[in-house]
Amino acid sequence: MDECESKDTFLEFLAGRYENLKDENTITPVTDRDQRKFRSYLYNRKLLLRKKTSDPETHEIFCTQCPSSSLHGYWKTPATRTTSSHLLVHFRNKHPDLPTNDTEEEKICLRLGLPKSKIDDDTSSLGQANLWKPRKSDEPFVPEVFRMLLAKAILTTNLPVEIVETQEFQDLLLYLNPDAPTLSRADVHEDVAKLLKNEEKTDHVR
Ligand SMILES: [Zn+2]
Repeated sequence: MDECESKDTFLEFLAGRYENLKDENTITPVTDRDQRKFRSYLYNRKLLLRKKTSDPETHEIFCTQCPSSSLHGYWKTPATRTTSSHLLVHFRNKHPDLPTNDTEEEKICLRLGLPKSKIDDDTSSLGQANLWKPRKSDEPFVPEVFRMLLAKAILTTNLPVEIVETQEFQDLLLYLNPDAPTLSRADVHEDVAKLLKNEEKTDHVR
């Protein structure tokens, strides 16, 4: 199988039941300028499908990965709302093998031996944390970047937030960097909320 062919297979797999579910009311992935706000990773990869309903205030969202008989992968949502954390939670719980953002997709691509560059879009699911680059030894430690990376790690791995308050975790951080900030669970909850909010903002960018 050449690179392109296995990439197509992977994307087809991601698309699930998309072709069966789509009809004239389908508004994702992006087809025209008006719908560009619904451009988060899950829509772009056809893992979710969003439809207009007869009520202009309401959209329907389908999980294309849940079997059609399942009641899990269906939601009604206000038409103005772009991203909701419960949709991410659905993927973590019901489809843990599937990526929910570009970073996770890149990891899977690496594992499958697919090209690791982003496949075909510029959607950055977790906002500024995706701008992270390895820090060179002469570059300053920026506590805000550290906090965003930690929040992202906790969000994407389901690590318990309590870990940040353990002595062992603090010892690890202080060994890496004596200036590492001491964080509470509340700090991390706040950072995770910011990440999710960033994602929503990214969805709104035109
Ligand atoms: Zn599902």
